[in-house]
Amino acid sequence: MRLFPALVAVAATLILAACTTKPKQAETPKLAFAAEKRADLSQPGNIMSFPGPRGTLRGRTIRVGNLSDLILARGEVVLTFDDGPIPGKTPSILNTLDRHGVKATFFTVGQMANAYPHLVRDVAARGHTIATHTQNHPNLASMSFESAVAEIDKGKRSVAAALGPNRSRIAPFFRFPYLASTAALRRHLAMQGTVVVDPTVDSKDYFVSTPDQVRARTIARLEAKGSGIVLFHDIHSRTASMLPQFLDDLNKRGFKVVHLVPRSRDAEALIVAAVSQ
Ligand SMILES: [Zn+2]
Repeated sequence: MRLFPALVAVAATLILAACTTKPKQAETPKLAFAAEKRADLSQPGNIMSFPGPRGTLRGRTIRVGNLSDLILARGEVVLTFDDGPIPGKTPSILNTLDRHGVKATFFTVGQMANAYPHLVRDVAARGHTIATHTQNHPNLASMSFESAVAEIDKGKRSVAAALGPNRSRIAPFFRFPYLASTAALRRHLAMQGTVVVDPTVDSKDYFVSTPDQVRARTIARLEAKGSGIVLFHDIHSRTASMLPQFLDDLNKRGFKVVHLVPRSRDAEALIVAAVSQ
């Protein structure tokens, strides 16, 4: 067991390295179903009060059963953290989120959940949404369909095992590593009742840059778009260290952080049934 932390560190390094490498076969998501069409956030009908008064950063909770539920009003931000959990950085991020009273969605990697199950439980216990992101973070678009499905399912099982009796806390939300998807996999996930939550604002916190550069870049993109599902990674120190100022900036600009949760317990039950097989 003494070797285990070293193995975990190697695994984390592999993920870090993999995340900074541009996927060869990444493709623009092609949506198979009309119900999966993303809301056009540029439409005037989606514009509400923005910028709003400075006040609480906490926004509404959105119950998501399919992609059509992912409609953000202007000024609304969804925080997502991929690839963790990992000691040090994930707990720091959780403390920052707690201080602002906001909730995020964590796209957890199965091997990280195996290594740090207590951190997965901590994320859930603090009220955040636990979603999945495969077992080993491969480029699913470069694999056979069967291997890709096995990767997705193994990731769910690992996260469920980490949560133990609270396995029903896994949301049926998924994100493709490198955002590299295929139409067949999207169709498969949709038929399972799993919602693929693609980011609309990439913080690019996986690039070598200072925490302040990550913060400023992400704020600028959110202001340009008016709202967004922000992609962060809770495995990076620069992300953990810029987050307090980033949330202060959001608050000053009148943004609200909204929380994505499964639309119904039925959806959670689907996932539990899937991981129990
Ligand atoms: Zn990832």
